[in-house]
Amino acid sequence: MDIADKSNFPLVVVIGGGFGGLEVAKALKDKPVNVLMLDKHNYHGFWPLLYQVAMGSLECESIAFSLRKKFDGQKNFRFRIAEVKGINHASNLVETNIGDIAYDYLVVATGSTTNFFGNKEIERFAMPMKTIPEALNIRYLILQNLEEAVLIPSKEDREPFLNFVLVGAGPTGVELAGSLAEIKNHILTKDYPELRKEEMKVYLVDFLPRVLGPMSDESSKAAEKFLKDMGVELLLSTKVESYDGEVIVFEGGKS
Ligand SMILES: Cc1cc2nc3c(=O)[nH]c(=O)nc-3n(C[C@H](O)[C@H](O)[C@H](O)COP(=O)(O)OP(=O)(O)OC[C@H]3O[C@@H](n4cnc5c(N)ncnc54)[C@H](O)[C@@H]3O)c2cc1C
Repeated sequence: MDIADKSNFPLVVVIGGGFGGLEVAKALKDKPVNVLMLDKHNYHGFWPLLYQVAMGSLECESIAFSLRKKFDGQKNFRFRIAEVKGINHASNLVETNIGDIAYDYLVVATGSTTNFFGNKEIERFAMPMKTIPEALNIRYLILQNLEEAVLIPSKEDREPFLNFVLVGAGPTGVELAGSLAEIKNHILTKDYPELRKEEMKVYLVDFLPRVLGPMSDESSKAAEKFLKDMGVELLLSTKVESYDGEVIVFEGGKS
C-alpha cells in the first residue's frame, strides 16, 4: 500500500494513537518526514476516566477523542484505521488487516495488556477494564445484576447478584470500589426500592498489605479510611487462588 506523500521525505509509521503515539506524532510536526498513524480505533482513549464509563457516570464520547481531529492542521500527518498483525523487519513492512504498509522508520506504541499473573481461569472469567467495550461490559453487568436481584424474593438467593469483588487495590481498583460504594450508598435504594443498602457488598482485594501499594503511606492510609467509611470491605494480604465465573476462592480456601 502506497501511503507516502508526494514529497521524498521518509515515512514514519506510528502504531498506536495512545498517549505515547500522540506525543511522537505531534513532535514530528513540521519536521522533514511524513507521519502515518495506525490504530485499530479511530479515537484516542483517555483511560484515567475509564472507570467513570464503567460506573455509568460518563458516556464513552467523553473519554474518546477523534485522532483525525487531534491532528487537524498537521500537514505531514495521515491516519488509517488498521489492526497491526505483524512486523516484517527484514522488508520494513507493517502487516495489517488493510494490507502491508512500507515504512522508513517505525514507532510501536501499542500500550499494554491486562496482567492476570498467569492465572488462566481468572483470565477466562474475570472482567478486565482496559478498553471502552470492557468498561461497558462492567457497566451492563452491574445493571443486569441489580435488575436480576429485584426479581428474586429471597434475600439469600439474590446475594450473589449483589456481591461485587474487585481484585487489585491500585488506583483503578480504589476508584472503582469508591464509585460502587457511592452507588450502594446513594443510588441503590432510590432506583431499586426493593433492595436494602446492606445487601450490596463491595469487596476490594489485594495481595499487598495496603491499598495504593506503590503510592505514599499517607495516600494509602487516607484512601483506606475513605473506603472503609464508605462501606467497602478490604481484603488485604489476600491472594486470589481461583475464580470459576461464580465463586472466588482465596489462598487458604476462604471464598
Ligand atoms: C483504567 C486505567 C486508568 C488509568 N489511569 C491512569 C492515571 O490516572 N494516571 C496515569 O498516569 N496513567 C493512568 N493509566 C495508564 C495510562 O493510561 C497508560 O500508561 C497510557 O495509556 C499508556 O500509553 P500508550 O500510548 O503506551 O498506550 P495506550 O494509551 O494504551 O494506547 C495504545 C494504542 O495502541 C492501539 N493498538 C494496540 N494494539 C494495536 C494493534 N495491534 N493495531 C493497531 N492499534 C493497536 C490501541 O487501540 C491504543 O489506541 C491508566 C490506565 C488504565 C487502563
